[in-house]
Parts: sequence; structure tokens; C-alpha cells
Amino acid sequence: MRAVVLGGSIAGLLAAQALTDHVDEVLVVERDRLPEGPVRRPGVPQSAHLHALLSRGLREIEQLLPRFAADLAAAGSRVFDFCADTAIYNPSGWGVRFPSPLKIHGASRLLMESVLRERVRAHPKVVLSTGRAVVGLVGDTTTVTGVRLHATPAPVDADLVVDATGRGSRADHWLAELGCPPVPQAVVDAHVGYASRQYDIPERHSADWHACYVQLAAPHRPRGAVLAPIEGNRWIVSLLGVTAHRPTRAEDDFLDFVRSLPTPAIANALTEATPLTPVVTTHTTGNHRRYVELAHSQPTNLIRLGDAVCSLNPVYAQGMSTAAAGAALLARCCRAQRHGTDLARRFHRQLAHITDWAWQPTTAGDLSWPTTEGGPPTPFQRLIIRYTHHVFAGATKSPHVQRSVLDVLHLLRPPRSLLAPSTVTHTLGSHLRAPRTGAHRG
Ligand SMILES: Cc1cc2nc3c(=O)[nH]c(=O)nc-3n(C[C@H](O)[C@H](O)[C@H](O)COP(=O)(O)OP(=O)(O)OC[C@H]3O[C@@H](n4cnc5c(N)ncnc54)[C@H](O)[C@@H]3O)c2cc1C
Repeated sequence: MRAVVLGGSIAGLLAAQALTDHVDEVLVVERDRLPEGPVRRPGVPQSAHLHALLSRGLREIEQLLPRFAADLAAAGSRVFDFCADTAIYNPSGWGVRFPSPLKIHGASRLLMESVLRERVRAHPKVVLSTGRAVVGLVGDTTTVTGVRLHATPAPVDADLVVDATGRGSRADHWLAELGCPPVPQAVVDAHVGYASRQYDIPERHSADWHACYVQLAAPHRPRGAVLAPIEGNRWIVSLLGVTAHRPTRAEDDFLDFVRSLPTPAIANALTEATPLTPVVTTHTTGNHRRYVELAHSQPTNLIRLGDAVCSLNPVYAQGMSTAAAGAALLARCCRAQRHGTDLARRFHRQLAHITDWAWQPTTAGDLSWPTTEGGPPTPFQRLIIRYTHHVFAGATKSPHVQRSVLDVLHLLRPPRSLLAPSTVTHTLGSHLRAPRTGAHRG
């Protein structure tokens, strides 16, 4: 039995690994020529921007690839405690910090992908076919039997196909060619822009944090930024701006933007830091979900995974983690698969729950901007937005609330867990107490 995975990035590589126990051969077809090591390539332009791998993502990858975290650390990532060592300036102020098990690897997206690629490439059942673009599918509305490649007359035969071609997936178009009805879709786009560059960490730098995150906050704070350490004693800094505040790629504007933030923490850190790269920008950040689980008449052996099924506003850093959770789910579904049952339908129904954990808070947060495409928020979303303001305020005072917020951010607990009686009590109680911490240097 042969599985063909379309796209050899995070979702594609993890899907390939997930399938190794269940098929005889996994062929990964990637449009780019994949480099050796952490080198930029055209198919993943987002790799120039800060990428945080959340706790859930790391946990799911470790399930598929034990010792991945150790490999990443050996390759140079800087491991730190997301809760204790990240200064988070949330919409209400500095979040409280304290030791937690939420470990995070400060590493470039390029490094994470290259460590993953080498691990998956080493599996004897996996073949990476690079420099080949997929241009269509072969089959009918019930079964895909192969994949068409650019400038290759004969299709590649497949018993199972996984679309992991990312945000720009053409699978809807390919399926329409086979006669499949369209899949319901939703777009919620807050029109967030990114501008990123790397810096040498100055020897004399001193602060009581390893990473600093100034969050966007509707409607009064349309500018934010994240600074985090990566391999090679470098910082990556990503600036975030909404609509008219989207940062430009002009080098002179970069520090001006940082100085315009409501806290000088990142500007102070960069005062003596030397830039190592040009400024790279992107405006491709909207939330786009394809509700494959609701579609009628989809092939039973076509799986859609990662950004190809749901791409999220990256300010919440959940894309790689949802892709990893989806790949681990694929392994579980294959294990439980019985002959003749619809693997794709079962997979996509379960994937929808994982996607919801990220989609619900992300889109509710984005809909708090009046300029967001896909709005206005429903009355229920308005309620969530108002409650979230209280939760953020609570997170500046109560460790319990901060931990609850971070658990939801890291996809360890569902968004509804913020409505647990203990969290509600701490949220309301924290309004009556003075701040516990919040002081920080830098
Ligand atoms: C600015 C920005 C910042 C981000 N920050 C974070 C973050 O902090 N944390 C996080 O978890 N996520 C982040 N993300 C999201 C993250 O990049 C994606 O969720 C993740 O890469 C999903 O991986 P994927 O494999 O689904 O898609 P991609 O990584 O986009 O990969 C798609 C692959 O398919 C290949 N491909 C495309 N078309 C074809 C074709 N026709 N034939 C063959 N191959 C094809 C491409 O070359 C590419 O290799 C960010 C995204 C952006 C834009």
C-alpha cells in the first residue's frame, strides 16, 4: 500500500511519519528542491518570521518522533519556560510570571523544519521526491487513485493521499475537476501585517526575561511585537500591526515602530543589538477554514491536514501545533481503521474538534477589530470578547488565571476551560486584589 503526501513541510513531514506504521511506502511530493540544513526556500516564505512551537505541538511531535526535542536542543535551540521567562504585555498589562512546565524551544522555523526533515527522511519507508509540483488528482468523487505532477505524463498511483500543501492548497480546485461539490469555507481576516529581522544578542544584554511579547489589543493597541532567542545567539524580532499599522520593510521604520509600542522593553533590548538580516514582511495572515467534515461526497482516501485545511492568524502561534495534532490524530485513525470504512470522514470529523480549539479563540479575538473581514462578531462571540478582557486583566494578577490562559494558548486545554468555576472565581477575585508581580527589568 502506498500513501502519497503532497507538500514536504511541517504538516507533510509529520503526516508521512504518522503513516509509516500503516502503509508499505510513503512518497512525499514537494514542489521545492529541499535543502540540506536550515536554509530558506520559496515554498515556505513565512520561515523568515518568528515561529513558536507551543507545548501541545511539541508533545504531539514527540509522540510521532520521540527525542525530537532533544535533537532540536542539540541543533542549537534555547529551551526556556514560556510562563516564567516570557514577559507578556497583554491587553491589560504584564502577565504574572512563575515557574511552569510550559517549555518552549527558541529556534528558527528553518531549524525546526530541518531537524524534522532529517528525522523523517531517515525512515526507510519514506521517500522524498523534491522539485516536483502536484497539479491535480486522479479518481472520482469517492476515491482518489493517483496524483498528477507537473510535466510528467503518467500519474503517480496512490492508495491514500494527504494534502499538506499549505495555505495556498489547490485541492478544492482539483476535487472540483473530479466532480466533488465545494467544501464550505470561512475567512476571518484581521489584516495583520508582519515585519521580521534577526539581531545578534549583545554581550551586555541583561533582562529578567528570555522572550518578550507585546500583544495586539483591540481596539486601542494596533501595534505589537515579539522578540525571542533562536539558535546562534540571535534574536528574532517580529513586528505586528493591524491594517494601517502594518509595519513596512523599510529598515529605518523598524526601530521607530518598536519605539512606538506601549512599553520600551523591546526597544531597550535592541538599543545595542546589531541587525543581521534585512526586514522581511508579509500580509498573508488571515484565518481560513475549510469545513471538510461538512462536505458531501469527498473521496474516502483523501486526507487534508495543516494549513491546507485551516490556516490561522499566526499571532497566536498555533499553526504548527494544530498540524502536529492532526498528524498524530491521523496515526490514531489509521490504527483504528477497519476495512471498508471511510477513513477521511472519521479523520476530518475528529480533526474539527482539534481545529475548534484554535479557531474559536483566534477568530473571536480577531473579530474584536471593527476592520476585520468576516465579521461582525455574533452576540455569543461578543460575550466571549468581553469576558476575555476580564481574563486578561486577571492574568496580570492571578497565577491561576495566567496559567489557564497559557494552557488555552498552548492548546493544552479547550477554550471553554476559561469558564471553569475556579478560573471565573480567580478572574473576578483578581479585580479586587492588588497586582502580585509585574515588575521587570529591561
Ligand atoms: C508570518 C507567519 C508567522 C507564523 N508563526 C507561527 C508560529 O509562531 N507558530 C506556529 O505554530 N505557526 C506559525 N505560523 C504558521 C505556520 O507557518 C504554518 O501553520 C505551518 O507551516 C503549517 O505547515 P503546513 O505544512 O501545513 O504548510 P506550509 O508550511 O505552508 O507548507 C506547504 C508545503 O507544500 C509545498 N507545496 C505547495 N504547493 C505544492 C504543490 N502544488 N506541489 C507540491 N508541493 C507543494 C510548499 O512548497 C511547502 O513546502 C506562522 C505563519 C506565518 C505566515
